[in-house]
Amino acid sequence: KLNELEFKCDYFDFDEIFYQKVKPQALSTPYLISFSKAACDLINLDYDECKKEEFVQFVNGEKLLKGSIPYSMAYSGHQFGYYVPQLGDGRAINFGSINNWHLQTKGAGLTKYSRQGDGRAVLRSSIREFIMSEAMYHLGIPTTRALALIGSKHPVYRPYSEPESAAIVLRISPSWVRIGTFEYFSKKRKDHLIKLLEYVITNSYSHLKNNKNRYEEFYFELVDKTAKLMAQWMAYGFMHGVMNTDNMSVDGLTIDYGPYAFMDNFEMMCICNHTDVEGRYSYNNQPHIAKWNLEVLAYSLKDVCNIDKLLEYLQTFMSTNQKYYLELMNKRLGLDESLSGDSNVDLIIDLLEDLEVSKCDYNCFFWELTKLDSFEDFSSILDIVPIREALEDWFIKYKKVISTQKQDFNEMKKLMKKTNPKFVIKNYMLQEAIEKAQEGNFTLVNDLLNIAQTPFDEHKEFEQYAKPTPIKYANIQLSCSS
Ligand code: AMP
Ligand code: MG
Ligand code: MG
Repeated sequence: KLNELEFKCDYFDFDEIFYQKVKPQALSTPYLISFSKAACDLINLDYDECKKEEFVQFVNGEKLLKGSIPYSMAYSGHQFGYYVPQLGDGRAINFGSINNWHLQTKGAGLTKYSRQGDGRAVLRSSIREFIMSEAMYHLGIPTTRALALIGSKHPVYRPYSEPESAAIVLRISPSWVRIGTFEYFSKKRKDHLIKLLEYVITNSYSHLKNNKNRYEEFYFELVDKTAKLMAQWMAYGFMHGVMNTDNMSVDGLTIDYGPYAFMDNFEMMCICNHTDVEGRYSYNNQPHIAKWNLEVLAYSLKDVCNIDKLLEYLQTFMSTNQKYYLELMNKRLGLDESLSGDSNVDLIIDLLEDLEVSKCDYNCFFWELTKLDSFEDFSSILDIVPIREALEDWFIKYKKVISTQKQDFNEMKKLMKKTNPKFVIKNYMLQEAIEKAQEGNFTLVNDLLNIAQTPFDEHKEFEQYAKPTPIKYANIQLSCSS
């Protein structure tokens, strides 16, 4: 029951320069758009409670629950490579934690850290964050989660567009600490930084708690986690779009969904963020940027760790990343590395080249491969691409590799079925849901949430979403304004 939920607030042990206790500014005429049952389970919240007026009031910040003292957090960050000393939750407000899940609303109004912003989030970006958090989780990709989405008539103004309406997402995460949080603390006193390290270790790395070298070990584990996260993003064609250090979790989670995209057609240099003119956060750059961000973290820890040890460990990032990436890509192709004794690197590199040349929808390729009844005839896949030749050549190589594999067709198919979802939520689908939502119809938002949470299921009535993205909508860039 909602009223029985009890919050723990553990952030107030820090000095007040690191947070602001702040009252959320409620939206006028709030209403529930959607909630995630899977996320409710994490905090033992009864689903029926979400349908009550009180729940909307809670998400809207009007109704405070037991133990909850709302606050926003200070952080810094490197934005597009440039250090910005003062950032923070400019439109997010934390309520405290339940079962170690920290609840936070995004779009909750002005805070000390709002800078020129209005503290609000538009409906469009809130729908995107809400659905994608749940989609990523159900693909097995570490991420913060989303519990509920409320809308309103409250107007918001963003550059170059008509007035939009404000919304709030209730997000939950094991931690909201970012690399940028460490950057912020590291510029203050050393004991503050130590306190933050202890906090993060207690919260998220409790198995390290009694180790003498726990600060360094925390860093090493984060390097591994982040390398693995990047491998998952890359294998599934996910682009974050704004990998600033303030958008990098120290739990190794995907965090802060903005102009992200699941790639439509495969493009190695794909840029999803319209503002990212130079492609700093392009698809192929992501692991390199993650490593760059971890280097920033290492320097933030230099007063309390042996920086040489951190930087030395960071050198393992790319090989860890590649190992996980190849593991996943092998699975996506039905190839079991342990059985073949070969990482099939050349085959995978060739595939990426050939997918790009053939203008193939990246995730659809794997879904079509998974659906095959045999490896005799690949025409059903060739039929989905505008340009066939490169892939025709690739299938010859693929068959050659298969013939050296120990596993049979059925085993391969089983592996692929576990790894390749029928549905990946693409931007054009979200756009359809957004346009309907802007007219007051939230059916598709809820349908997409359902698909996002069960992407391996059939969903016969949404067959069109398992097909390649229509060309006119493929790889379109979005802006940061949200
Ligand atoms: P982002 O790149 O979206 O993660 O945001 C960068 C910083 O700008 C964060 O500190 C946000 O809290 C802040 N910010 C973004 N949009 C707004 C807004 N509408 N009002 C206040 N602060 C914002
Ligand atoms: Mg952010
Ligand atoms: Mg080739």
